[in-house]
Amino acid sequence: MLNDNLPADAQILPFYLADGSDDVALIRGRMASVGRPANSILERHDYPPLVATLQAEALALAACLSSTLKFDGVFTLQAKGDGLVRTLFADITEAGHLRGYTAMEDNPTGFQAAALAHDPSGSVCLGSLMGSGYIAFTVDDGTSNGRYQGIVELDERHLSDAAMKWYENSEQLDTIVVCAAEHGADGWQAVALMLQRIAADGGKDDGASTPKTNEQARAASDDAWHTAKTLLGSITRGELLDPALSPEDIIFRLFNSMAPHSAPARPVLDQCRCNVEKIESMLQQLAPDDIDDMADHDGNLTVTCEFCKTHRAYHKDAIPRL
Ligand SMILES: [Zn+2]
Repeated sequence: MLNDNLPADAQILPFYLADGSDDVALIRGRMASVGRPANSILERHDYPPLVATLQAEALALAACLSSTLKFDGVFTLQAKGDGLVRTLFADITEAGHLRGYTAMEDNPTGFQAAALAHDPSGSVCLGSLMGSGYIAFTVDDGTSNGRYQGIVELDERHLSDAAMKWYENSEQLDTIVVCAAEHGADGWQAVALMLQRIAADGGKDDGASTPKTNEQARAASDDAWHTAKTLLGSITRGELLDPALSPEDIIFRLFNSMAPHSAPARPVLDQCRCNVEKIESMLQQLAPDDIDDMADHDGNLTVTCEFCKTHRAYHKDAIPRL
């Protein structure tokens, strides 16, 4: 098996579905399972359980969405709201280096009320934690081509709905996204599964099967899309989050009748991108007054990465100046 070398809970599995009568792929899919990196990312933070669940969903969703884009750089999901959670952030590089953080209000009573209102059999309701605002999905390839960004309002019910709205606005290809995260006996499970219809173009003539007319191709695509949606609707949250089921197990069981085939899975790991050079460059650009504000009365200051919580200690007189 191609994917045996990657942990089942730290990978993105690309797959394709056909209509069963031939092998022409009509639907492409991705399943991201990121429980392992979510565990180590979340254990460095002290989020209320509902916030940690939302962060885990965001990590899975970012991994899943990033894998549908052709890019060399960073894919970012960033939500800004006016509720208990002000910022929800997850990003991932093309190499699968994943990180995330949440900025929130200091309001334990509010989080308790949100937890009581939460239905644990479903995803976290965005509005209850984030209020109103927006979610930005950004692709930054780090070159002069710059960034591509899509923005949707925070008025969707779940993170996965916001992702579907983004696809609706940008790609105009039928897309379904489901997302689930839960902390169980074995730690975090966090998964996102995406199906996208491939534009029907009559298929290619591979010599083995009769080329289809556009009308036949469209009908086959419609049928396949309908079947795939129905099958996806039949999977339970418990199955999606079952640590005993790998992405490959889930895809091949669920879409067994649609000639599923997978491409090699891609790794996802908990890997921050902060480093000493970036921190020192940031410090060098601060005004002396700002440095003084950060330092204690002995002149010591600590810079903490908000993603990985690494502390880096400096003395204000020992920061190399530009
Ligand atoms: Zn870091």
